[in-house]
Amino acid sequence: MELHKESAFKIRDQIAKKEISARETVSYFLERIRKCEPKLSAFMSVYEESALAQADNIDKKIKSGENAGLLAGVPVAVKDNMCIKGEKTTCSSKILENYTGVYNATVVDKLREAGAVIIGKTNMDEFAMGSSTENSAFKITRNPWNTQHIPGGSSGGSAVSVSAGMVPVSLGSDTGGSIRQPASCCSVVGLKPTYGRVSRYGLVAFASSLDQIGTFSKDARDSALLLQAISGYDRKDSTSVDKPVTDYSAALESKKDLKGLKIGLPKEYFIPGMDQDVENSVREAIKSLEKLGATTVEISLPHTQYAVAVYYIIAPSEASANLARYDSVKYGYREQNTSDLLDTYRKSRGKAFGPEVKRRIMLGTYALSSGYYDAYYLKAQKVRTLIKNDFDEAFKQVDAIASPTVPAPAFKIGEKTGDPLQMYLSDV
Ligand code: GLN
Repeated sequence: MELHKESAFKIRDQIAKKEISARETVSYFLERIRKCEPKLSAFMSVYEESALAQADNIDKKIKSGENAGLLAGVPVAVKDNMCIKGEKTTCSSKILENYTGVYNATVVDKLREAGAVIIGKTNMDEFAMGSSTENSAFKITRNPWNTQHIPGGSSGGSAVSVSAGMVPVSLGSDTGGSIRQPASCCSVVGLKPTYGRVSRYGLVAFASSLDQIGTFSKDARDSALLLQAISGYDRKDSTSVDKPVTDYSAALESKKDLKGLKIGLPKEYFIPGMDQDVENSVREAIKSLEKLGATTVEISLPHTQYAVAVYYIIAPSEASANLARYDSVKYGYREQNTSDLLDTYRKSRGKAFGPEVKRRIMLGTYALSSGYYDAYYLKAQKVRTLIKNDFDEAFKQVDAIASPTVPAPAFKIGEKTGDPLQMYLSDV
């Protein structure tokens, strides 16, 4: 059986019907990881023993006729910025290289409640800052379709783990594209849920007003299944939204076509200069939506041109505040030969943060400093509201918006590392 080609949905059903055990499933994927990992470097840790123990637990439940959960026996990988008690959470940074989680992220608890088997943690750009996973302090993850190319980022490891069939589904985090862009680069389905839908408790913060946990899967049905498992109000996250969780899978099953759905195509997202292959495949996909009964109309999101600039003020500003906690005193790397407290801060942070993280801290601190705050941070917040208003206006007219995810396919490893501005612009 080629389990790595199957959906999570099917694997879950086969385990429930006892056609295959959770232990056999987990063993199969552990073997698959062993085989692919040397070429792809998608994982930061793999939990062989605890994954098999979790699988045995599921098998026991199924044997005794208990409800084993929505994802019973399905192996899942999570990005290494979500805490698991007793396991390392490195954020692919030297500063957290030896940091062990002291509690579970809410999504981790929810996955386990749903019977999923957490099989390992995936590589990422350091603190989720990047678009190629080349900013990991430990290794470069490779695109399984062509290993000379980047998998996208910052959740590159999670995208590759699904794309190469090392797990059926995985979790990533998306602040400014870090699920959607690597999903696109690796040809899998990526979903950034609406802010507030999924708890951020136990997710290491990058830019808190944008961070959100979401899913990677082979198809939309699996992303519905996984989203259902991780969604919901959490009193431990003050921005979590207190609304009931829809049965997303049932909602998908109940609709056989897209009749009555109105889809907007933003004219600012289809611009000269975008890659021809990207444009062709997006236009093809839109035709499929139309064949299923949707109607499409051109819309305008007039402030689109300011989005990258606004993002690269707001995200680094929030990051500079969030990353102040890595003072080498409470946790994280500490340099030994120092003369006083300030020297300890300087040397520890200087040594253990990578160049991109330092660049963001400097950009953010600058934008927030007195005298520049109004000109940069405050201005960016105002333009952010204009961008949000564009979407509010658009959604008065249409139910959904279709667009390319990125203007070009996955670039070559090393192509943009020497030019941070080019890397930022690729986020457009
Ligand atoms: N590429 C974006 C950045 O570098 C995306 C980050 C993210 O979504 N975590 O900031």
